[in-house]
Amino acid sequence: MGLKKLFIDIPALLESGIDLSEISCEYMYHNKNNGIFNLLEIAEFAVYCRQCKESFCIDACPKEALEHQENGTIKRYNLRCVGCKSCVLACPFGTIFPEVINYISSKCDYCLNQLDQKSDYEPACVQTAPPNSFVIKEVVEDKKQNIFFVGNHLAVRTPSWLNKEGKL
Ligand code: SF4
Ligand code: SF4
Repeated sequence: MGLKKLFIDIPALLESGIDLSEISCEYMYHNKNNGIFNLLEIAEFAVYCRQCKESFCIDACPKEALEHQENGTIKRYNLRCVGCKSCVLACPFGTIFPEVINYISSKCDYCLNQLDQKSDYEPACVQTAPPNSFVIKEVVEDKKQNIFFVGNHLAVRTPSWLNKEGKL
């Protein structure tokens, strides 16, 4: 039995052709927040990013807003980021989605409070995203099947370069 997480099927999301801003979010602490952008940024740095030791994106950033974390992933510190997207252009693998690197950053809290109160709660993103692209469910990590855990509350299914290069 896996743990219950917010599961995002990124190919299903992209293939649907939906404008990401059409997916609703109920995070209440700032206006016009759309947690979807936050979730995709977390996922892209965890799964798509090649985690280069000498990172062109970090070198390109004029505000020193990108830093390597201890586990090798890169994090964008959004109080320093000015949204210039130089990092997007600098990445030789095209792994940084320009639409999620915004000056005004969004936040997702995984609707943990709502899920604590009602275990079958469906957050607004789950209700408004294309069918099966956002689901709260028990998930078992299976990297060979392109299902990756990202942090404690998020699981993503997406083709990974690690599989393509036989590194999993
Ligand atoms: S889980 Fe909640 S906070 Fe996160 S994107 Fe969905 S609705 Fe927004
Ligand atoms: S978008 Fe932000 S993180 Fe990327 S290069 Fe510009 S300031 Fe740095």
